[in-house]
Amino acid sequence: MEVCHRCEGRGVHDHEAFSNGISQDEFREDPDFFDDYRAGVYSVPCSVCRGQNVVPTVDTDRASKEDLEAYYRHLQSESDYRRECEAERRMGA
Ligand SMILES: [Zn+2]
Repeated sequence: MEVCHRCEGRGVHDHEAFSNGISQDEFREDPDFFDDYRAGVYSVPCSVCRGQNVVPTVDTDRASKEDLEAYYRHLQSESDYRRECEAERRMGA
């Protein structure tokens, strides 16, 4: 297990509606909203770890051969995808 990157181990994060951030103006106009926000009223259980604070990682010593192969295939396709994106960016896409 490792600390969840989404909530940084807090188990909660701001509601998705605030994922773009909240401007200082909104807090100034509505001090109650600011208080509620600071109190965590708008926090929701982390969507990645579901409030567990940690996420499972592959234990390479104990995972089965099939699981490991699937895991490495997954990593490979992720890096292939990133390379494709970079190539497209370089071409100005
Ligand atoms: Zn989390």
